[in-house]
Amino acid sequence: MNHPKRLLLSNLAWSQEVAAREPEFFTDLARGQQPRILWIGCSDSRVPAERITNAQPGELFVHRNIANLYTSDDGNASSVIEYAVHALKVEHVVICGHHHCGGVRAALSPPSDALPVVNRRIAGLRDLAERHREELLAIADFDARVDCLAELNVIEQVRLLRESPIVRRAPRPPQVHGWIFGLREGLLTQLTDMDQAREIADSHADSHASIAVRDAA
Ligand SMILES: [Zn+2]
Repeated sequence: MNHPKRLLLSNLAWSQEVAAREPEFFTDLARGQQPRILWIGCSDSRVPAERITNAQPGELFVHRNIANLYTSDDGNASSVIEYAVHALKVEHVVICGHHHCGGVRAALSPPSDALPVVNRRIAGLRDLAERHREELLAIADFDARVDCLAELNVIEQVRLLRESPIVRRAPRPPQVHGWIFGLREGLLTQLTDMDQAREIADSHADSHASIAVRDAA
């Protein structure tokens, strides 16, 4: 899949296959969307939300950016979240990071002169790395350090989103979940517990990636 023309041909084959298997599929899609889940993930080409979860069109409302970041002054992310929470009334928000994340790696490396916008974008990640400096430096292997920060970042984004006015002012605030995707196994792991109230209390203590538990759901 290295040329846009391949994408068009694949789309043609896919649409014909779906229409043959499920004649009402596209008619139903055209009626509107009622996704129950907002997915906030990384733009990385190796982490396509629908593909890794086997979700169908209409199931996920998706926002992706470098290193799956949310900040209240980010109009793009905020508008997606506002629409998902207040108009679509999604019941769940999944913030999904991944191991081997280039954005996270950049936050642990010297800023690149060629990427000033990216540098500004990941400033919060650098701050997070600084707050966990000792814990991260204790990990000798750099790749493992990057993966640890990727997990800490997911937990931090979950905290920020849960505390955001967009979520707090919702008539029915959604559950916010933090997951990490392991590229080597292709598996999602739940980093935050389902008990949102307890986690908010815990987040004021020193959060640590080792609270990761396998998603049994
Ligand atoms: Zn990434």
